[in-house]
Amino acid sequence: MPVSPVDLHLHSTASDGRLPPADVMQRAGAAGVRLAALTDHDTLDGLPEAAAAAGGAGVALLPGIELSARWARGTLHVVGLGVDPSATVLRAGVARHAEVRHARARRMAERLERAGAPALLDTVLGMTGGAAPGRQHFARALVEAGVVSDRKAAFRRYLARGRPGHAPAQWTPLAEVVSWIRDAGGVAVFAHPTRYGLSRGALREAVKAFVAAEGTAMEVVCGGFGPGDVGAAAALARRHGLLASVGSDFHDPEVPWIGIGRLAPVPADLEPVWRRWVSV
Ligand code: MN
Ligand code: MN
Ligand code: MN
Repeated sequence: MPVSPVDLHLHSTASDGRLPPADVMQRAGAAGVRLAALTDHDTLDGLPEAAAAAGGAGVALLPGIELSARWARGTLHVVGLGVDPSATVLRAGVARHAEVRHARARRMAERLERAGAPALLDTVLGMTGGAAPGRQHFARALVEAGVVSDRKAAFRRYLARGRPGHAPAQWTPLAEVVSWIRDAGGVAVFAHPTRYGLSRGALREAVKAFVAAEGTAMEVVCGGFGPGDVGAAAALARRHGLLASVGSDFHDPEVPWIGIGRLAPVPADLEPVWRRWVSV
């Protein structure tokens, strides 16, 4: 697969990624990416380190974030691109989501113990290095404790909705999350549309709610997307007049099928969201 010069969805150790922000920038530059967005879950904390490393890595950094949001029928992810990390409203929202994550982690740990797993909260909090805990951290802790053989099994047996270690998080409603991004001067992107397990009709409703909230773009190409996913996402972008974004959703160099910049091209009729910032 040719390397895309643009990758607008990357995670670091500031959330549930495995590499520090500076290493993510280094890898992006080495891979041939020229415009990159660091989009950690519900946090802006990785951005200063990424910004300091980007220039030396030959990368232009777009400050970003991936916010979880509550929609009528489940959780959606919204990527914010080009946000001002000092914006007051966004910072208050991020602080609120950090509390939501900590509250959920306590409930997950309780429920896992009741289901027979060892006490994992301290392990998880140690693992995050101060970052807010997420379900991936629990998955890793379950693997390291020998409860399950891999992270997929951790989700299947314990962490997925309806499983004994699942605890719902009280995310902020979608419209408000989009407004935080817009208030911070950013562009809201509907993340990885085919990854929510929604029916075609439900997904269309979700995108309608996103558009009603003044969301701007659709992630049309994402790491691990096959041609069918790209086709479905592109059709949603066309139908709703959304700009197209691309992002690997990179977390971990040991997951070889999701590499930084390893992204198919965006269908030519769609308008790339990054034209706002650069002409690559
Ligand atoms: Mn993640
Ligand atoms: Mn996501
Ligand atoms: Mn992501």
